[in-house]
Amino acid sequence: MAEHPEGIVLTTVDAIINSVRRNVAAPLLDVAPVKFGVNWARKSALWPMTFGLACCAIEMIAAGSSRFDIDRFGAGVFRPSPRQSDLIIIAGTVTLKMGPVVRRVFDQMPEPKWAIAMGACASTGGPFDSYSTMQGVDRVIPVDVYIPGCPPRPEALLYGLMRLQDIIMKESPSAYIFDSDGTVHRQRRLEGDGEATASADETDELIAANS
Ligand code: SF4
Repeated sequence: MAEHPEGIVLTTVDAIINSVRRNVAAPLLDVAPVKFGVNWARKSALWPMTFGLACCAIEMIAAGSSRFDIDRFGAGVFRPSPRQSDLIIIAGTVTLKMGPVVRRVFDQMPEPKWAIAMGACASTGGPFDSYSTMQGVDRVIPVDVYIPGCPPRPEALLYGLMRLQDIIMKESPSAYIFDSDGTVHRQRRLEGDGEATASADETDELIAANS
């Protein structure tokens, strides 16, 4: 069956737009002052997903209280929807049943997005080396910062948040280039890295191999 002429035009326009994004917008984003501004804006307005799994979540909630005041770091606007969040704090034990749900929520968050594994359970399974507990949430989502402790205090979460902000300041904004079909070529390139690190597809393969 012959292709509809409108389809050919749209495909051509898409190809041109994608080419401009990659060859014009991406290099511009990596010019030093632009890169600093974009990264500074991203790290100063992290919107965490409202998502807690077990006891560590109580410490996360405490971090939002006036005593610890996570708002000082621009990360106090906990959102009720993954579509409005760019940070997920995995606070608590992840069971094998919960793993696919965590992945679904993470997938629903728009790029760029980051993840913190808060506490021993989220990082490694913690004290629960059992048939029902996932031995680290990095089996289903890519984790940027791990926070040790059982539970970590709110100050530890704030420290982890500051380390994440350090990572964001070193990222290349051009690592998140979107194509018009919604796919994103996500490569976590940091200053000092030689070649680009794993892309989203490679990360998926790693997750599949380790699960
Ligand atoms: S690390 Fe400790 S405090 Fe945190 S969820 Fe696991 S058992 Fe609870």
